[in-house]
Amino acid sequence: MSEFRVCESPGCNAASNLQCPTCVKLGIQGSYFCTQDCFKSSWKTHKLLHKLVQGKDETLTNNSSSVYDPWPYFKFTGKLRPFPQSSTRTVPLQIPRPDYADHFKGHPVSEQKEKNNHQIKVLNDEEIEEMRVACKLGREVLDEAAKALSVGVTTDEVDRIVHEACVERNCYPSPLNYYQFPKSCCTSINEVICHGIPDHRPLQDGDICNVDVTVYHRGFHGDLNETFYIGDVKDSGKKLVNVTWECLSKAMDIVKPGEKYREIGNIIQKHAQANNFSVVRSYCGHGINQLFHTAPSVPHYAKNKAIGIMKPGHCFTIEPMISEGSWRDEMWPDNWTAVTVDGMLSAQFEHTLLVTDDGVEVLTQRPGNPLPHFLSP
Ligand SMILES: [Zn+2]
Ligand SMILES: [Zn+2]
Repeated sequence: MSEFRVCESPGCNAASNLQCPTCVKLGIQGSYFCTQDCFKSSWKTHKLLHKLVQGKDETLTNNSSSVYDPWPYFKFTGKLRPFPQSSTRTVPLQIPRPDYADHFKGHPVSEQKEKNNHQIKVLNDEEIEEMRVACKLGREVLDEAAKALSVGVTTDEVDRIVHEACVERNCYPSPLNYYQFPKSCCTSINEVICHGIPDHRPLQDGDICNVDVTVYHRGFHGDLNETFYIGDVKDSGKKLVNVTWECLSKAMDIVKPGEKYREIGNIIQKHAQANNFSVVRSYCGHGINQLFHTAPSVPHYAKNKAIGIMKPGHCFTIEPMISEGSWRDEMWPDNWTAVTVDGMLSAQFEHTLLVTDDGVEVLTQRPGNPLPHFLSP
């Protein structure tokens, strides 16, 4: 299959294969020109795209007077703004895909069938081995994203790296088309709690950015996320990220057969509250196996009513979202991006876990290093 590109220069429809080098560097897709002359003649208008995407001017990146303003009447809770998104990426058809990948509304039909079933699946030895493989590959993909994160890199570029790292490993990126989510991972910056959509906003010095990766490999999902420092982060932001990691770490410590799922939230809220932080309530950890999200539901807040007791062979995630200010969330008009209502920071960490005969196996752990990247770069 060959791809036919048309010259970006207005009025010129010639076939083109010269790509604007600045666009390549900034992760802007498209931008093909037929000749150097055509490129030069378009430069004056074309370079505005670089400015927009680079956001060198603070007003272009954060301000509501930004050129790109998809929801003029929406009142944002913080400083972050949406940027244009690249077009949808595709996964080669020879890679096994979940049912929602080809559903016109992205509905996970197999998951929806189990919606009212609170029974937690006990995986057999072969299924556990497949989960180990999927989670190991998910970890490799997140580590590829980690290498790329720095000031000036767009979250769209992070998404491209995640997408390609999945495809190279024969994985389908689970978020892609899940309830029509448009990208291959979630990138959640500053006041974004979770489910941020990768776009052309370049990461800024001082941001905190969570990257959430899930891969689907040979019929099984592996899910993990980490929050990263971008450049120099304020001490208050560092404290939040640190405490959020400790919340996950302390929660994982109690995982063993016989433990109640509802106990996890008590551990997490106790530690968050001791540090004057709050626990997000709208989004929970989840069972994970051949289904992306299934029983049990694992709330991260105290005194929750989660159903179930841990048994060997259970696979689930813990993924606390901890906020500096209010625990309350609201949604951007894209129906995905969950933000804090007060615009203050929120951080998150996630692992996929297997309950073993005597405790827990952290399936998404970094090989040879249990610490997240921000503590052990
Ligand atoms: Zn995740
Ligand atoms: Zn998850």
